[in-house]
Amino acid sequence: MRGTKIVVLTGAGISAESGVKTFRDNDGLWENHRIEDVATPEAWQADPQLVWKFYQARRRQMNEVEPNPAHEALAKLESELNEFTLVTQNVDDLHERGGSSNVIHMHGRLQTLRCETSGQIEHRMDDSDLKDEYAFCNCCAEPSRMRPDIVWFGEIPMQMEEIYAAVESSDVFIVVGSSGHVYPAAGMVHVAKSSGAHTILVNYEMPLNGLDFDEVHLGKAGEILPDLVESWLTE
Ligand code: NAD
Repeated sequence: MRGTKIVVLTGAGISAESGVKTFRDNDGLWENHRIEDVATPEAWQADPQLVWKFYQARRRQMNEVEPNPAHEALAKLESELNEFTLVTQNVDDLHERGGSSNVIHMHGRLQTLRCETSGQIEHRMDDSDLKDEYAFCNCCAEPSRMRPDIVWFGEIPMQMEEIYAAVESSDVFIVVGSSGHVYPAAGMVHVAKSSGAHTILVNYEMPLNGLDFDEVHLGKAGEILPDLVESWLTE
C-alpha cells in the first residue's frame, strides 16, 4: 500500500478495548441513556443538566483510559505513508495519545467546549472544568454557558468538504469499528467505491453496511489491526 492514498475512518469500536463503551453493542443505549436523550440539540434544550452531566462523565472517563494497539497501529501506518488521512467519528482523544498527529474529528471532541453565544472553542480539561456544574466561556464580556463541542444527531458534521475530498481521491478506504448506522459516515464507503477505491472493513461483527466492502476482517481491532497494518505495509 506504500505509494497509494489511504483514508481510514474509525468509529466507537476502535476505542472499545480501551474501556470506552460504544453506542450499540447490546441494547441500543449509550452508557444507559437513550441517544435522543443525551445526543441531540433537542435534549440540550429540554434538559441541559442531564446532557451536561452525561458529557462531563465522558470527559472525566477519557482521562482514565489509554489507547490500545489498534490506535497505535494506525499511528504507525500514518508515520510510514506519505498520503494518509485519518477521520474519526470518535470524540475521545485516543488516536492522538496513540501517536497519530493528524486526526479529523468529524463529530467533535470531548476535550474542547464551545461558547453557546459566540461559538468559540476552548480547550478545557482542568479539574475545575470537569465538575458537574456548567462551565462558562472566557470569550464574552458576560461569560456565557458552554456546551459540549460535540456534533449531535441532527447537526452537521465537521470538516466534511475536506473529508469528502480525501475519500474521493483515495485508492484504499478502510473503516475500523463502526456499526454503519450513523450517516453521513456510514455512506462514505459508497463514495469511496464510486471513486474506484478498494474498500476494507475491520469490525468485531458484520455491521449493517458490511456487504458494501470489498474486503472484511472480523475480530477485535486491537487484536487484528496491528498484523493487518504490518501486511499492508509490505504489500
Ligand atoms: P457504534 O457504537 O454504532 O458501533 C461500534 C461498532 O464497533 C459495532 O459495529 C461493533 O461491533 C464494533 N466493535 C465493538 N468492539 C469492537 C472492537 N474491539 N474492535 C472492532 N470493532 C468493534 O459506533 P459508530 O459507528 O462509531 O457510531 C456511533 C457514534 O457514537 C459516533 O457518532 C461517535 O461520535 C459516537 N461515540 C463515540 C465514542 C468515542 O468517542 N469513543 C463512544 C461511543 C459513541
